Amino acid sequence: MLNALSVDVEDWFQVGAFETVIGRDQWDSLERRVERNGEAVLDLFAEAGVKATFFTLGWVAERHPALIRRAAEAGHEIASHGWDHKRVFTLGEAAFREDLKRAHRAIADAAGVEPRGYRAPSFSIDARTPWAHRVLAEEGYLYSSSVAPVVHDHYGWREAPRFAFRPLADAELVELPVTTVELGGRRLAAGGGGFFRLLPYAFSSWAIDRVNRREGRPAVFYFHPWEIDPGQPRVSGAPLRSRLRHYSRLSAMRPKLLKLLKSHKWGRTDDVVRSERGRLA
Ligand SMILES: [Zn+2]
Repeated sequence: MLNALSVDVEDWFQVGAFETVIGRDQWDSLERRVERNGEAVLDLFAEAGVKATFFTLGWVAERHPALIRRAAEAGHEIASHGWDHKRVFTLGEAAFREDLKRAHRAIADAAGVEPRGYRAPSFSIDARTPWAHRVLAEEGYLYSSSVAPVVHDHYGWREAPRFAFRPLADAELVELPVTTVELGGRRLAAGGGGFFRLLPYAFSSWAIDRVNRREGRPAVFYFHPWEIDPGQPRVSGAPLRSRLRHYSRLSAMRPKLLKLLKSHKWGRTDDVVRSERGRLA
C-alpha cells in the first residue's frame, strides 16, 4: 500500500516551539540552513528511490526558489505550508485567505507549478476553524493534510476522523489526517515529526504496518529538514521541554529515516489522496 511521505519545508528558527523567543521580525537576521538541509533531503529521497511532497512555506519559497524548483524537477510534489507558519486558528477567515494566497504566489513562482495541496502549520485546522476547508476549496486546493485527530499539548482535533474524509458536502476537497494508532483504548500520534525522532524506530514501523494491514489504509508521515541537521544553532532562551524535543537524536535521524523509507512503500501525498478519493465517492 502506498503511504504518503512529506517534508514540511521550514528553517530551524521557524518552528512553533520557538515562537515565543524568536520573533518573525528576527527571521531575516538569522542563519538560513533550509536550502542545504533541503538538498540533503533530496539526496535522502534519491538514495531511497522515493517521491514525496514538499509542504513549503511561502517565506522559504520566496528566498530559496532554486531549492523548490529542484524538488519539483526531481518529481516531487510541491504543496503549501502557508506563508510564515502562523497557526490557522490564530488567523481568522480573512487573514487565513490572505496567508494562503501570498504563499501560493511565492510557491507557484518558485516551483513552476501551482500547489494544490495544503498543510496547516502545526496541524492547526481544528474545531476552532470551521471556515478553513471552505477557504481552501474556494482557493482551488484539492486536498489538505492539516488535521491531527489526537490530543497533544500544541495541537489536535480529537473528534476528527482518523482517515481521509470530505469535510465539505458540496466540494471535492479531501482532508487526509496525519497518522494515529489506537492502542488499549488510547489514540497515539504516529505520523512522524518529533514522535518518530524521539521514540524507538520499531514503534513507527509497527504503527505504519498496523494502519496498512489491519485497517487497510495508507499512513501519512512527515518530518522537517532541520531534523537531519545536528549542526544547527541552539536557541538558549526556549523552554526546556521545547529544547529537549527539538535537539534530541538529530544525528540518528538520517539513518533512521532511510531505514523507514526502505521498509515501507512511499509516495507523494497527491497520489495517496487520489487513491483515497475513490473510496469516498
Ligand atoms: Zn511546520
